[in-house]
Amino acid sequence: MRVRFWGTRGSIATPGPGTNHFGGNTSCVELTTAAGGLLILDCGTGARRLAAELMAKGEKPIEANILIGHTHWDHIQGFPFFGPAFVKGNSAAIYGPEGSGGSLHEVLAGQMEYTYFPVDLAQLPAAITYHDLTEGTHTIGGARVVTQFLNHPAVTLGYRVEADGVVVVYLVDHEPYSDELWRAGAERGRIESILHDGDRRHARFMAGADLVIHDAQYTPEEYPAKKTWGHSTYDYVVQIAAAAGVRRVALTHHDPEHDDDFVADIERKARALALRLGTGLEVFCAYEGCELAIEPRAALKPFVAAEPSQPSVAQRRFYILAVDDQPDMLEMIVRALQDGDQYIVGQATTGAEALRMIGERMPDLVVLDYKMKGMDGMAVVKSLRARAQTQFLPVLMLTAMTDEPSTRAGFDAGVTDYVTKPFSIPQLTARARACLARVHAP
Ligand SMILES: [Zn+2]
Ligand SMILES: [Zn+2]
Repeated sequence: MRVRFWGTRGSIATPGPGTNHFGGNTSCVELTTAAGGLLILDCGTGARRLAAELMAKGEKPIEANILIGHTHWDHIQGFPFFGPAFVKGNSAAIYGPEGSGGSLHEVLAGQMEYTYFPVDLAQLPAAITYHDLTEGTHTIGGARVVTQFLNHPAVTLGYRVEADGVVVVYLVDHEPYSDELWRAGAERGRIESILHDGDRRHARFMAGADLVIHDAQYTPEEYPAKKTWGHSTYDYVVQIAAAAGVRRVALTHHDPEHDDDFVADIERKARALALRLGTGLEVFCAYEGCELAIEPRAALKPFVAAEPSQPSVAQRRFYILAVDDQPDMLEMIVRALQDGDQYIVGQATTGAEALRMIGERMPDLVVLDYKMKGMDGMAVVKSLRARAQTQFLPVLMLTAMTDEPSTRAGFDAGVTDYVTKPFSIPQLTARARACLARVHAP
């Protein structure tokens, strides 16, 4: 499989003398399989030059598969400049996560309304198809493609592409689920020792990959001020990739504030860390024009998800019970979830009231505060897990307690997800969405 980077910048295109080496175009990576399958990961401004090259090659028809992680600007802005879409006979199959405030088609059409762009999406002559995805396994461009949710303040998918005996995993944009990566007292550097279930799942998803392309927008020093913005640090990426037995990591989605010298310094530090960890992990910072030929090193082990997911949740309505003893917080949660008409949200202000309400009407998800007067969130979870009817009821726990013992106690008690305060509204809705999309059953 061949990999080529066309856009490595995060957030906004950043051209100029300071970014000549690593590049100023936003996210876009081209994968080509031996059989000629074309998979384009994200369609940021880098897609314009890729499009020009595809057109210049003169091969007809061009059959592009565009896999969009999420629909933030820096991942879709190149699409209106994707030349092959303006030629009859070509085709573009566009894949992306469902539930980002409309269907994929609607969101892409939105950025091409006449207010923003002179050509309407519906006028494009190429055959364009839209595929709204949740988690699952798909065949795209002849490759086996597995999707899994990432942690970002928008519904975002990571893509694991398996073809030609190799595995390339694209994980952009993503933020650690927990401040602390490892469980105290456990041996570091092993997937089983990862504290938060979300980070553990993230590690498993990239396990054994030949190449992982990962968001590493911030340094560890910058991260505390940018928490909940949905991006990673190089040290998180290197540690988790090393634990997952990854062969090579490309750090990408470089911050617009970071010039070439700064990114080169990140690369040096990331390499030093990888060396210290001693797993043989290779690390580099992705740059525009970087081209790699990935050769198989061992028999490919297809990834199998631990838990299945619903093929689609966009058309379903859900009942969510929000439980918090602080009126302001409860109101914020309810408002966040009730945006749109997909969720009916019930409210409870105590643990006892929550249990009574669950007994009367079974919710699809419980969003539960940890620290409450009287019966706290942990006691509610324990009570739910002790009963057969609510043993697998998804519970998303909200807490200000970011420390290792509290996180651990939450998962040990059986929470489905553990979200620490402060969180943003889009982050909460994306996490709730991931809980609802997964099948929680034995
Ligand atoms: Zn981004
Ligand atoms: Zn984003």
